[in-house]
Amino acid sequence: MSTLQLAVQKSGRLSDSSLNLIKECGITFPTRIARLKASAFNFPVEFLYLRDDDIPGYVADNVADVGIVGKNVLMEKTDDLEVIKELGFSKCRLSIAVPREFDYQGVKSLEGLNIATSYPKILSDFLKDNGVSADIHEISGSVEIAPSIGLAEAVCDIVSTGSTLVSNGLLEVQVVMKSEAVLVARPGLSGAKREILDQLLFRINAVQAANSNKYILLNAPNKAIANITELLPGMRSPTVVPLAQEGWSSLHSVVKEDDFWEVIENLREAGAEGILVIPIEKMVL
Ligand code: ATP
Ligand code: ZN
Repeated sequence: MSTLQLAVQKSGRLSDSSLNLIKECGITFPTRIARLKASAFNFPVEFLYLRDDDIPGYVADNVADVGIVGKNVLMEKTDDLEVIKELGFSKCRLSIAVPREFDYQGVKSLEGLNIATSYPKILSDFLKDNGVSADIHEISGSVEIAPSIGLAEAVCDIVSTGSTLVSNGLLEVQVVMKSEAVLVARPGLSGAKREILDQLLFRINAVQAANSNKYILLNAPNKAIANITELLPGMRSPTVVPLAQEGWSSLHSVVKEDDFWEVIENLREAGAEGILVIPIEKMVL
């Protein structure tokens, strides 16, 4: 029987979220990551625990079939893989930052500078697209200290909150790319492996839909049902169940997490009472 080999980061900012997603897909596996490989107990997948930088290469070279990696690392390492799914975690951006006192007037201000980065390919493409020529100084870690030790005049580095930059006297001036974890695959994956990937994808979609939606129950006088139904986009239309009390009903529906507070306000104004909001475990559309 075929097994899908899935490369995940061994330890780092992607690891916990990658393995959590797999767990939420109902896939169980040995919890200790002492080894390089582990097979899931109840799904035909084998995990390869690797450094994130090696994941695109291993997938491209057929060592693993699919992998979970940051889009930033993917773009830096190879153009040969297919992004199957954006996973919505480990969100960050690759940005250019300059010393606070630098008079930044737009990308043209980077002309002729020496820029330190761990992402020479992405940076060089960005500069080329913007018609700027600058020297790229590749370093593998602690890029943010390069200007203060005189190694570079600007940096191009991963930013999430920006606090590391600030504490090094740097100012983020230009977003080069936005990144998040992605599920990648080698194009043209074989029949049996593709089928396993499709099953995995089906589960990931159900988990993601569930995580971005809430189940909502509320009571309302029957005369308010039409208005309230307008406010509840739901999967199709709300379920309406009569209450024991004459003239009242219970409405059940699904609301998007992002719209949640606004919807609740509007529902209350329309006459809804006893609103319950419940997390959804899985959602198949
Ligand atoms: P490895 O030892 O596997 O090479 P690493 O030190 O290169 O790990 P991490 O710091 O664990 O990498 O980051 C892995 C990925 O997580 C990054 O490539 C990026 O996509 C994302 N990431 C990095 N920093 C942050 C952050 N502050 N917030 C959210 N995501 C981040
Ligand atoms: Zn790395």
